[in-house]
Amino acid sequence: MTHQHSQRYFFESQPAWVEDDIRRGIIATVVLPDGVAKPLDYLVPESLAATVEPGRRVRVPLGRSNQQRIAYCVAVRNDELPQSPLKSLMGVEDDAPLLSQRMLELTQWMADRWLARWGEVLEAVLPAGVRLKRPTRITPLLVASGAAQVSTPTPSQAKVLAAATKPVTAEELARVSGTSRAVIRRLCKLGLLCEAGSIEKPSGVAASTRKAISHDRPEALSAAQAQALQAILDPLRQNRHETVVLFGVTGSGKTEVYLQAVEETLSYGKQAIVLVPEISLTPQTCDRFRARFGSVAVLHSHLTAAERHAEWRQIATGRVGVIVGARSAIFAPAPRLGLIVIDEEHETSFKQATAPRYHARDVAEWIAKAERVPLVLGSATPSLETFSRCLRGEWTMCRLPNRVGGSQMPAVITVDLRDPSSRSRGAVSPRLLAGIKWALDSGGQVMLLLNRRGFATHVQCRDCGFTLRCPQCDLALTLHQPGHRGICHGCGLVTRLPADCTSCKAPALVQKGTGTQRLEEQIRAIFPAASVARMDTDTMRSRGSHERTLDAFRAHQIDILVGTQMIAKGLDFPSVMLVGVIYADAALHLADFRASERTCQLVTQVAGRSGRGPLGGRVVVQTSTPEHPAIVAASAHDYEAFVRSELPIRETLLYPPFGSIVRIVVRSVDEQAVADWAAHIVSRLRAEIAAIPPVTSLVAAAVPAIRVLGPAPAPITRLRDRFRWHLQVQGPDSQALRDLVRRATATLKTPDSVAWIIDVDPVEML
Ligand code: ADP
Ligand code: ZN
Repeated sequence: MTHQHSQRYFFESQPAWVEDDIRRGIIATVVLPDGVAKPLDYLVPESLAATVEPGRRVRVPLGRSNQQRIAYCVAVRNDELPQSPLKSLMGVEDDAPLLSQRMLELTQWMADRWLARWGEVLEAVLPAGVRLKRPTRITPLLVASGAAQVSTPTPSQAKVLAAATKPVTAEELARVSGTSRAVIRRLCKLGLLCEAGSIEKPSGVAASTRKAISHDRPEALSAAQAQALQAILDPLRQNRHETVVLFGVTGSGKTEVYLQAVEETLSYGKQAIVLVPEISLTPQTCDRFRARFGSVAVLHSHLTAAERHAEWRQIATGRVGVIVGARSAIFAPAPRLGLIVIDEEHETSFKQATAPRYHARDVAEWIAKAERVPLVLGSATPSLETFSRCLRGEWTMCRLPNRVGGSQMPAVITVDLRDPSSRSRGAVSPRLLAGIKWALDSGGQVMLLLNRRGFATHVQCRDCGFTLRCPQCDLALTLHQPGHRGICHGCGLVTRLPADCTSCKAPALVQKGTGTQRLEEQIRAIFPAASVARMDTDTMRSRGSHERTLDAFRAHQIDILVGTQMIAKGLDFPSVMLVGVIYADAALHLADFRASERTCQLVTQVAGRSGRGPLGGRVVVQTSTPEHPAIVAASAHDYEAFVRSELPIRETLLYPPFGSIVRIVVRSVDEQAVADWAAHIVSRLRAEIAAIPPVTSLVAAAVPAIRVLGPAPAPITRLRDRFRWHLQVQGPDSQALRDLVRRATATLKTPDSVAWIIDVDPVEML
């Protein structure tokens, strides 16, 4: 000890000759968007010292040939230079940092949390328009020049000039003066209008073509709403983080609580981010935010790269108060963030399906903690992950058990499809038929959910039992009408269906399983006087088609709306008196540990569309397993009962939320290569597990160890001509599990013939 001490003293007192030997310099650490995963150090030349800073991109020489690459600068330090000389930075790419220090920390955390490369996370959080520096749309402003007029202006020219006393865009000028753009162009040519500056015009900010529906602020909140609002305002006012979960039945006024919490946030000059599952599916929610607040940026997936760039810059200036968007809106660069809301937090679309496979809920929690702001999660059917954190006391749960305005939850009737008396020629049982009649006769509307699109779900030979399959995927072809085509829902391949069985040649092909197209056809035949529409990905391909159909439904131009899960989300139509679930078991038996949870959520959500108005409502659920806890709970409007029956099952199996899962999927055109590579990964994982020091204490022995399941063919064993195998690694401790997987896979040299991905805490198991 004393020896060390005296040694340090010796160096400190004799710095001169020591430093002589050590060269110091400015070192930048950079991360490449792809290729090299490890951060690299470069020397910052004198000429660039003033402009290099974390968050900007730089140009660096890479490899033996010193190929120039763009990289993200993540740190700059003044330090001793290493023995082997560093290469020098070649230049700086951005005029200002694209990423704040906080974003750099977040992306590094995300890379660890989802076993992604830091570079790919950096790329993912920046919109393409920002990375590619797409110019934002600059719109010139025009003003009357006051130049002498050669001839008397026409009446419309006079109107334009009168309106152009201060700088205004051509678009605005045409609107205000009620003239055409041609008149304005002519005046510009004549020199009577001239340019006076320009503005950067983001597209989404309050620029919706859809007229906003004015939802007035209610006079008073219900007691449950007031309590929930208070639970959000407390941390908001105290600048502290807290996660508040609004567990409220459909129509209990959750959105109103978000609106008022956002209102308060804005009153402090702060910004709010509101995440919704998908903009096009939640037009009503977006409209309500637009109607209530002035500056709302709606980040649509339809925005062009340039428009996104403009939005991003507007948000970064702090001028936009409310940001509404899907998953990636969580990365909006709000400098004065005060609140984050995630509506329908249980939706799987909050998890990104491609690398980096992050979950927006976890990202939101990280940001809310770092910024010390409240995070609000709302749902009628919270995910089990969220529910268990509330039960453990980490998060605050506010219950809103009743609908506002006194409307009752609709009565639910289950129809047991195994019962011969419920049989019918089509997909509609006599009970459901009676329900539809009752609703239509009472002047109400009907929604029918069938989560399978197409006409028939498969085409089978009556003689030999052969089912027509996609040539490139291990999936049955779905029959689509009109055109009698077979479409693969895995790869999208469209084929002409043969007349006879391709296996036994018998002319005995029959159409099995009803999809939304056939259901629509049956409903039209049974109710010829009713107006019927269908909403699924096949009918909703064109832009704005959702809005048009929903507007028509709201205006009661449609009596019966047939659709897939698309119709289950967030819609509030007071005249819906009957909701029919054609086949509640559709997703119940999938090879996914969340199948029951999904089914219970879907049936609960769609049932909640019924009976929102004064006329009341009913729900008819057709099922082959009416005794299943997911169906029982959804029918009783008791989601929590399902949660309490499901959690112990998850606990026994160590599935989330009781443990973490890392899923690895391997694919290749070569089936043997897939099997071999999956087996190789498993052997590496097992070797790592064996290398974990044996537990000595009794307490530690009680903790279940990490286990590997598989390899095995994935439930969809072939997709787009690629064979797919998967394996799962499970463990009680997420960090330990990820560290193990990282160690096991770090040095793998993947053969050219295979590709593989790592998905931490997957939401998709097929
Ligand atoms: P949720 O988001 O839980 O489905 P909403 O916030 O959409 O519920 O509320 C359902 C309906 O009730 C909406 O039309 C809303 O305008 C209305 N509403 C919400 N809160 C109140 C209230 N306190 N008083 C009266 N009407 C309300
Ligand atoms: Zn296919």
